[in-house]
Amino acid sequence: MTDLRDLYQEVIIDHGRRPRNFGPLADANRTAEGFNPLCGDRLTLYLKVEDGVIRAARFDGAGCAISTASASLMTEALTGRTEAEAEALFAAFHGLVTDGPGAADLGKLAVLAGVRAYPSRIKCATLAWHTLHAALAGQARPATSE
Ligand code: ZN
Repeated sequence: MTDLRDLYQEVIIDHGRRPRNFGPLADANRTAEGFNPLCGDRLTLYLKVEDGVIRAARFDGAGCAISTASASLMTEALTGRTEAEAEALFAAFHGLVTDGPGAADLGKLAVLAGVRAYPSRIKCATLAWHTLHAALAGQARPATSE
């Protein structure tokens, strides 16, 4: 179990330090901003959605390692998914970090399961997802992880 936990931490540290899909997306047609006041994490999410499918997802901003890693892993997981699949993934991910592993296969996103033990960190891990929800819903107001 220790080995697995170390592996999970390695993935989080790697994505926290070298986030994937980081930087603006020139032809984005959905964007949203997210803010987690408890930790100070801020991010802007950029999506290119065509025919209900997320063709590209990028983000920028500044936050702690957990929020950055979560956003990085999320953008990787979103590409090629329909909006409905993305919302379902959000629900499954939210369940993972609040209630623990469920039936859904979350792939690499499962590395964030450990935040469940740290309630204040759950906000960091879910910020990108709340921002995704806002972007898909077309909300103008900044998303928070509250
Ligand atoms: Zn944070």
